[in-house]
Amino acid sequence: MKLAELGEFGLIERIRQAGDPSAAVIGIGDDCAALAIPAGELLLTSTDLLIEEIHFRSAWTDYYDLGCKAVAVNVSDVAAMGGTPQAIYLGLGASPEVPVEQLEKLLAGVRDEARRYGAELLGGDTCRSPETLMLGVTVQGHVPAAQLVRRSGAQAGDQIWVSGELGDSALALRYLQRGEEPPSAIACRHHRPHARVRLGRILAERGLAKAMIDVSDGVIADLGHVLRASDLGGVVEVEKLPQSKEFCRHVQQQPQALELALRGGEDYELLFCCAGEHEAELLALAVELDLRLTPIGQIKSAPGLEIVGLEAAGVTLAAQGFDHFSTSR
Ligand code: ADP
Ligand code: MG
Repeated sequence: MKLAELGEFGLIERIRQAGDPSAAVIGIGDDCAALAIPAGELLLTSTDLLIEEIHFRSAWTDYYDLGCKAVAVNVSDVAAMGGTPQAIYLGLGASPEVPVEQLEKLLAGVRDEARRYGAELLGGDTCRSPETLMLGVTVQGHVPAAQLVRRSGAQAGDQIWVSGELGDSALALRYLQRGEEPPSAIACRHHRPHARVRLGRILAERGLAKAMIDVSDGVIADLGHVLRASDLGGVVEVEKLPQSKEFCRHVQQQPQALELALRGGEDYELLFCCAGEHEAELLALAVELDLRLTPIGQIKSAPGLEIVGLEAAGVTLAAQGFDHFSTSR
């Protein structure tokens, strides 16, 4: 069945029926959702757009995975401030020609992924789009006011840490752009990123992270945001960048690919700055969470970001990070 046959209100009714009515004071079906957040906590809100042909290609994308990814990348922003995600809102622009089954898969992905983080789809908007599929996902979460972690809290001498492994998603995208199927280990890092909510919460709750950001545009760009917000500089050591086995193997054959660990995109790992005295605690946390946590450099008082070891690794860094409106792409 095409969306044109089911119609806007038919689709909304299906979305409502699949929801959990106990997740909010008011969920889907009124003019607004209404939710209660724990007393004394701050409400966090973040929005991301995903547009067909810009952020994803339908030919490369399973709609269930797309629904999951749309939520995960959004929830990642809540994780980066130390928060707990609570509500997801989905703005959906779709062609009347889209098969309802595809949208159902997408919606199932949105719903399942939200629930994986303890959140629920509580509203949205649905409208016609001429051709391309457009998704606008908003997440709301909460964090105890005293635990909020911003980009601006870094201090000179802090260690710069990153979770997980870098570059896999961008490497998978390279394969796809060449018309090749990426190895499955890195393909899933591109199609199904995982937001580091638990890590973000623990870093905030235990007072370990002074500044934090999620790595969506590559370490150089995102650490750059932290440095500017904190009015400081930093140094990153290329040889310390955490890489997966698959990524390492690729870099051995093509050293320049290491660039993807610095300026690739869509890693959705957390980058955070901590006092050096917490190193042992962080390494123990890595074991506790079964997640790599790696110190990759240090915050300095002199401005600028220095990348050490590029030449030895055989990497040259050309242009800047990704800019949606730059013409030199
Ligand atoms: P309004 O005209 O007040 O915007 P709508 O008819 O658009 O109301 O929406 C009715 C209800 O359905 C609202 O609770 C809205 O949040 C929800 N809703 C609409 N589209 C979506 C969607 N794509 N995903 C989740 N909820 C939706
Ligand atoms: Mg509406």
